[in-house]
Amino acid sequence: MPDLLLEAKRWKANVSRVSVPLDGSSVPGLWLNGRPERGSTEAAASILAPATGQKLASLNLANAADVGKAVEASARAATTWAKTPLRERAASLIELASRIEANLDILAAIDAKDTGSPVTAMRGSAAKGALYLRMMAGVSYEMSGRTYPASDGLHYTINQPWGVVGGISAYNHPILFACQKFGPALIAGNTVVLKPSEQAPLSTLALAALTEDLLPPSVLNIVPGSAEAGAALAAHPTIQRLTFTGGAATGLKVQAAAASSGTVKHLTLELGGKNPMVIFADASLEQAAAAAVRGTNFTRNQGQSCGATTRLLVHRAVADSITERVVDEVSAIELGLPEDPSTVMGSLISKSHQTRVLEFIASGQAEGANLLIGGGPPMDERLASGAYVTPTVFDSVTPEMSIAREEIFGPVLSIVPWDDEDKVLNLANDSPYGLTASIWTNDIDKALGFSHDLEAGYIWVNDVETRYPGVPFGGWKLSGIGKEQALVDELISFTRQKSVNVAIRSQRLASQSGL
Ligand code: NDP
Repeated sequence: MPDLLLEAKRWKANVSRVSVPLDGSSVPGLWLNGRPERGSTEAAASILAPATGQKLASLNLANAADVGKAVEASARAATTWAKTPLRERAASLIELASRIEANLDILAAIDAKDTGSPVTAMRGSAAKGALYLRMMAGVSYEMSGRTYPASDGLHYTINQPWGVVGGISAYNHPILFACQKFGPALIAGNTVVLKPSEQAPLSTLALAALTEDLLPPSVLNIVPGSAEAGAALAAHPTIQRLTFTGGAATGLKVQAAAASSGTVKHLTLELGGKNPMVIFADASLEQAAAAAVRGTNFTRNQGQSCGATTRLLVHRAVADSITERVVDEVSAIELGLPEDPSTVMGSLISKSHQTRVLEFIASGQAEGANLLIGGGPPMDERLASGAYVTPTVFDSVTPEMSIAREEIFGPVLSIVPWDDEDKVLNLANDSPYGLTASIWTNDIDKALGFSHDLEAGYIWVNDVETRYPGVPFGGWKLSGIGKEQALVDELISFTRQKSVNVAIRSQRLASQSGL
């Protein structure tokens, strides 16, 4: 295998640095043909810092016509990129990882402003994006086909790129999701058109600038835009491979748009969740309670995390003890300004999302759940104009309440007590979603039996929240289809397989027979 790191050193003299003014000025909204470009939407969109309401930038986003232009340009770039040696494609992604790492402070500062999440968390999230590129490049030579003993001839498979891959992503981890969408697709030889969320597009545009001398024009085009741009990408007939991260309702629209395009498409859908954590009476209570808080992602993302365990199913015998510890720990969480490195919990993505979360909290109260802590905006004057919601815990939640069923995507934990061990599996599985689940018990048989029977794509036993690098992540049921983080399997999903059958016309092998 070639030395990819050596190959990457070709660019080393030129580690680019990015800067985005964040002062409300006008910035180009797209990255097209290897340079910044203005989108064609007539009115410029104001990008606001959700923690303060301050205007960060004004940009013209992509409309459907821009998306069409981007796909056509990426289609023109596809043949040459597919023929670029794998070692060069992989090496350019390793170099991009180095550039992201060299710019972590800037990228994290942009994302802290743009998303409202704490800068320290955003730094970690962007670093994971760089790690992801390295991991994918590292396994690139594993994208091999197979040979088959079907006759005395030669029967083999090869994996070839789809052409243009469409990527659409959510707002909560802009750099990580961008890397997840374009990294494996580019290494596998595809070009990519990526649509980040219009709610937090700035760091992805900054990231694009790092590729200027690294990727040929239109190998990666970036088209931040609204639902119109996303729908145009999903429905584009040239695209046969789509990868989407977002809500379940939007995922279903993406499937419908894909079907309407007249082209069959291979889709990965990474969607929402209403994930259970099940605590049995024999669990280590202190650890389980700490994990119950960690699993909510109140810190780092304000609960805006698809894998957050927000349905806490606790055996009634230990419910009081767990609840008391959880409330104790949650009461110590302080909200702060996202750019402050000591802040552990910031603001939600927007005022409208804040309203939606507060409506869920009101519905919990109206339906009879018991509000233990939080439940509204903070009292702190400094945070008054931001989209903040204090960390909120309800107990006495019953399974039919909306706060136990619907994905809130905010800092709300619902504690549901249970009595009957024979019924708790059904309780955990009683959700249209199936993304993650966490089990707490000291009984190995119970843990493994439950892991087998839970309807979810990613399970933790006596653990929670950590996404282990290289362990496939993705949902069941309404939480999606396909896996990310899946190393070589994921790379192969960005290729289409071809079987080649070669007859060997040798007298000595005259008896070739198919099976
Ligand atoms: P949305 O579904 O609202 O948006 C996701 C992306 O789709 C955005 O880029 C959005 O654009 C775009 N979009 C909106 N409408 C359409 C459409 N009709 N066709 C195509 N694209 C469209 O999700 P959020 O951004 O609000 O993110 C939160 C959701 O994402 C939660 O449900 C969360 O669980 C899920 N998620 C899942 C993850 C996983 O790995 N399973 C990881 C992270 C989040 P725009 O924002 O510009 O409107």
